[in-house]
Parts: sequence; structure tokens; C-alpha cells
Amino acid sequence: MGTVAIHREDPYARQCEGFVTRIADDGVELDRTVFYPLGGGQAGDAGTLLLGEGTTLDVIDARKSRRDDATPDDTLHLLDPESGWQDKLAVGTAVSAHIDWERRYRHMRFHTATHLLCAVVHELVARSLPVGCEWISDDELRASPQLVRSMSVSPPLGFGRVRLVRIGEVDLQPCGGTHVRNTAEIGAVRVAKIEKKSARTRRVVLEFA
Ligand SMILES: [Zn+2]
Repeated sequence: MGTVAIHREDPYARQCEGFVTRIADDGVELDRTVFYPLGGGQAGDAGTLLLGEGTTLDVIDARKSRRDDATPDDTLHLLDPESGWQDKLAVGTAVSAHIDWERRYRHMRFHTATHLLCAVVHELVARSLPVGCEWISDDELRASPQLVRSMSVSPPLGFGRVRLVRIGEVDLQPCGGTHVRNTAEIGAVRVAKIEKKSARTRRVVLEFA
């Protein structure tokens, strides 16, 4: 049974109850989670796992599971190696999982902004070519005609399902990331700089204004 990724249906969920299903060298998987794993141009979540006796374990990042038989939503919660978590968690341990909401909300706002930026990126690169976008860190976007194909064929969900995200009449694209429910929540964003990385590639750096 794979992880239930609550952020798929509710990106505003900040915490959930669950239990440990697998133990890895550097963290654990849960039966359900609110943690978004690094991918699709969006950073992974950090946060905490609370145990019954008041113990708190820091989750330093979240990644997609590395197991060969992992489902797309199976998420590895990377735990602070200094915390001695191996002595506190076992398969079946009940936990309350809490994300660092300020961090996540910033990611959601930035990530949603990149959808809008992708929609107008033709203007940014001053070309009439179709242009794909790749989000390479929290505040950097790479725009390149070569990315169009990979963007259009990489399904964010497995098992033949693809989630399409529409923002009004502005943008429609497959995406498994987390988005704000109203673009007004993004606030003001400005393009800090546009770097020429190669003849056909530009790096666009965004920041909150
Ligand atoms: Zn998205």
C-alpha cells in the first residue's frame, strides 16, 4: 500500500496523523503525509514528527522514495541524523506529521508564480519559439525551447493519471506540485535578472517584491 499524499487534494493541510510504514537509513515513510517531496521544480517540505510521549523529531527535507517498487506518492521523510531517531521510531509507530507552513506557503506562492511566468516567457526571451520552463531552485527558473518536449511528456502522477492545473485562461499544464487557490495570494513578484546560459537557454531569477 502506497503513501496517501494529502497535499494532492489539499495543499493547505498543515498536519496529519499517520504511522510509520518503512524505515530507511536516513528517514521514514508514512501511510499518509502532508509533506511534499522534492520534485517537479518544487522544493521538499521540512517540519516535525510528533510522537505520543511528547517527543519531537525534526524532518529536514522530504524526497520521493528511492525504493524500486515505490509508488509516485511514496515519500521519504529525512530525519535529523543527530536526533537518534532510530531508537524512537519503528514500523507501526503512530506520529503526527507537521510541515513548516511558512516555508511551504512560500514555495506554493513561488511555484504558482512560475506557472504564470511560463505563460509569458515568450516575451521574456524575446522569441516566438515555444518555450518550456524548468524550475531549478526556490527562485530560479530555466526557460529553454529544448525543455518543451520533456515538460509535455513527464506525467506528475503515475498509473496513467496526469493532473492538469489550469490558472484561468492564462496557463494549463500537467503538474503535481502545490499551488495557491487564488493567484492574489502570490503577491508581488519581480524578475530580478535574466541570465543568458547558452544561445537558447535563459535563467530567470524571481523574487518577492
Ligand atoms: Zn505546478
